[in-house]
Amino acid sequence: MKEKLEALLSAAVAELAAVKSEDALQELRVKYLGKKGEITSVMKGLGSLSPEERPLVGQVVNTVKAQLEEALEKRSVEVREAAKAERLASERVDVTLPGRRRAVGSKHPITLVTEEIVSIFAGLGFGVAEGPEVEHDFYNFEALNFPKDHPARDMQDTFFVGENVLLRTHTSPVQVRTMLKQPPPVRIIAPGTVYRCDSDATHSPMFHQVEGLMVDKGISFGDLKGILTLFISQLFGEGVGVRLRPSFFPFTEPSAEVDIACVICKGKGCRVCKNTGWLEILGAGMVDPEVYRHVGYDAETYSGFAFGMGIERIAMLKYGIADMRLLFENDLRFLKQF
Ligand SMILES: [Zn+2]
Repeated sequence: MKEKLEALLSAAVAELAAVKSEDALQELRVKYLGKKGEITSVMKGLGSLSPEERPLVGQVVNTVKAQLEEALEKRSVEVREAAKAERLASERVDVTLPGRRRAVGSKHPITLVTEEIVSIFAGLGFGVAEGPEVEHDFYNFEALNFPKDHPARDMQDTFFVGENVLLRTHTSPVQVRTMLKQPPPVRIIAPGTVYRCDSDATHSPMFHQVEGLMVDKGISFGDLKGILTLFISQLFGEGVGVRLRPSFFPFTEPSAEVDIACVICKGKGCRVCKNTGWLEILGAGMVDPEVYRHVGYDAETYSGFAFGMGIERIAMLKYGIADMRLLFENDLRFLKQF
């Protein structure tokens, strides 16, 4: 019986070495020391021994039990330590690792340029006016002195939505809407989206314009030139050459196209300015009395000027962008540069 107990003990200790969890340890304890455990059942056989043998075997049983208990306790501590070490390793946080950078969007170059233009004119006392993009023929053409059969209508390839309803071809209808709403003096700029049936490297069917209008008593062409020169020097830098060339627009008389000295070659002549040294950036002129007649202003008392420019063109010159389509392709490699 003594041999049998010692064999059980060494079997239990061998099994114990392979135990890796508290649950398995508990199972092992039940297997040997539980009510129906192997050592327990040996102890139940003590009664069949002679009174001389009983204390001797009883002593062996107690020793084996004590040794197994001790081994179980020791293994239990080891298993707990191992589990703790594993948990610490898996939950380890390296506080010295750099954080994950969150991608932050930036403003589109068209937005940046629009905001800059608006802020320059705000500094000159111009308020911002807005109008609808789907426009009536009256505001887009008729009131701006483009009669139905006027050849100047062909200058702008129009998207028609219905009879007399169209996508505005310029921001100029905002002038008309503003003057119909309020008496002079007027000092507004109108940034917005416009549409023309045209598409290549320098034209897009949808693009942006800023329109300006100033009407008051005694406004002269000199005021127009002064304000635009100031605007250009703020946008492109002090001392940029400015020139005005006679031009034609139905809603201004006289009219002018405004050029700046080429910002790429500084006036020496390059591919961008087609070797002229000048870049056209906006159209302007004194508001035609015919426009005042449509909005009910007294052309004898009031005078004023209007100007308009393409925001894409300004952005392309300011940032040196060669192809207008880049502004609409939403390629992040391009947009992230601003
Ligand atoms: Zn040039």
